[in-house]
Amino acid sequence: MAGGGCLWSREGKRGRLGGGVALNGSEVLECGENRLHTELRADVLHAKFVPSPAGLHPAHFLVLLSSSFLEWPAQRLPARQHLGDWGCNTWVSRLPRRERPGLRLMQMLPPQVLALARQQNKRVKVVGGGHSPSDIACTDGFMIHMGKMNRVLKVDTEKKQVTVEAGILLADLHPQLDKHGLALSNLGAVSDVTAGGVIGSGTHNTGIKHGILATQVVALTLLTANGTILECSESSNAEVFQAARVHLGCLGVILTVTLQCVPQFHLQETTFPSTLKEVLDNLDSHLKKSEYFRFLWFPHSENVSVIYQDHTNKPPSSSANWFWDYAIGFYLLEFLLWISTFLPGLVGWINRFFFWLLFNGKKENCNLSHKIFTYECRFKQHVQDWAIPREKTKEALLELKAMLEANPKVVAHYPVEVRFTRGDDILLSPCFQRDSCYMNIIMYRPYGKDVPRLDYWLAYETIMKKVGGRPHWAKAHNCTRKDFEKMYPAFQRFCAIREKLDPTGMFLNAYLEKVFY
Ligand SMILES: Cc1cc2nc3c(=O)[nH]c(=O)nc-3n(C[C@H](O)[C@H](O)[C@H](O)COP(=O)(O)OP(=O)(O)OC[C@H]3O[C@@H](n4cnc5c(N)ncnc54)[C@H](O)[C@@H]3O)c2cc1C
Repeated sequence: MAGGGCLWSREGKRGRLGGGVALNGSEVLECGENRLHTELRADVLHAKFVPSPAGLHPAHFLVLLSSSFLEWPAQRLPARQHLGDWGCNTWVSRLPRRERPGLRLMQMLPPQVLALARQQNKRVKVVGGGHSPSDIACTDGFMIHMGKMNRVLKVDTEKKQVTVEAGILLADLHPQLDKHGLALSNLGAVSDVTAGGVIGSGTHNTGIKHGILATQVVALTLLTANGTILECSESSNAEVFQAARVHLGCLGVILTVTLQCVPQFHLQETTFPSTLKEVLDNLDSHLKKSEYFRFLWFPHSENVSVIYQDHTNKPPSSSANWFWDYAIGFYLLEFLLWISTFLPGLVGWINRFFFWLLFNGKKENCNLSHKIFTYECRFKQHVQDWAIPREKTKEALLELKAMLEANPKVVAHYPVEVRFTRGDDILLSPCFQRDSCYMNIIMYRPYGKDVPRLDYWLAYETIMKKVGGRPHWAKAHNCTRKDFEKMYPAFQRFCAIREKLDPTGMFLNAYLEKVFY
């Protein structure tokens, strides 16, 4: 949900991965953030003297060695759901503060981890920002955290391209690009995600002339299971490149990414109220009027909040307001949502009341593009987000609305966020060969409490499948290989590339086994 709105705001605090346990030799380092960082710096220096095989970047990274990593958060935090926990609640925020049996944190070079994994017959999973709500980045084997592979390696101002280590957070990349008068042409809702991670799951935003974020990638380097480093682009290892731009973490370790940028720009965001009928009847006109158009539908009502984002020369301005955004839009809303867990019939009223309170007028914000694209996600939530053919938008939304009207016991929190994305040619991109509409549904977890959602989830999935949808790789879905074979014309091609690059399945995990077997 967007700025001007109240659940998320642009003043967002940045969650960082990295606190936890560090093992230095056999010594356990009890770490506050600073202590950990001091130790890490020492290890960076040390790592730089390690001969780097095959010209590999000498930056170090962390690897979690665990035989039972998944058990830990599951035991400690029973609320974790495999259907998609979002926000601060992704599993990474639950890295242990102390040593746990079976869990060790070490610093090694990527090829050394792969060699160790081959030797010990372990699987390997790379994690970026750890923001994927699904289990796509989980493992019971070795986990590589790319947090220290975070440098900008090259800025080509003429071509407007930047080459970065794959572990860089986009939040750290933006100020670097600002210095060079550059920007990314589109972003997802948060920037505490890494260059390697956003292309791992097919992260997207909105704008029918803009593809998913992976379409901004012009080259990448990939460390494969046997230790080979492949330089991939349209002109080099083109087949692998076409697959690796949405790689699901199953092709190897992405070491570097080169992104096509655009000149730095400012955006004006205008939010105004409308109705579902008006927006669906005039969809093409809205898509033409605004470069980054999206809308929020408030289930159990006709209400819609339309959001236009467009280039501007206006100076920065903000309609943010602590009272409305936090006191009402967060604290009061969370309390009422909690009450509604005992009285589910209240949900429709809450959706209508908060639209009237917070979304019933026009609001404007102007700022640098990355400050407008991103915002803070405050609520813990479950989420599904499927991409359907753009022309199916109206049919799918009306069917979802009709389903809710016919089943008053099924309740849906606001908003249903509807975004649009240009088609591409990336083998496992949900937008492969078609312009798409992403329809994101959520159920909040007020004060961490689980809210029943199964009927809503199933009805939504049924509609999405019926209209030819493809689920977001990082969010909840119940699909298996059979479904993906039908959904993706290039599925077999991707499988062949994966099997060639990783014949023993070193980069698989339980989530990916469902995808490929
Ligand atoms: C608050 C919030 C808001 C979000 N908003 C959006 C949104 O607007 N649009 C959207 O599409 N999604 C959104 N997401 C989902 C998010 O963008 C994706 O989950 C994204 O992949 C997260 O990036 P990450 O760096 O955290 O990747 P991770 O979750 O760490 O990893 C994602 C995948 O990439 C793999 N991987 C990561 N780095 C590497 C590497 N270097 N080499 C090989 N494999 C690697 C992992 O193994 C995994 O398979 C949101 C998530 C949250 C929590």
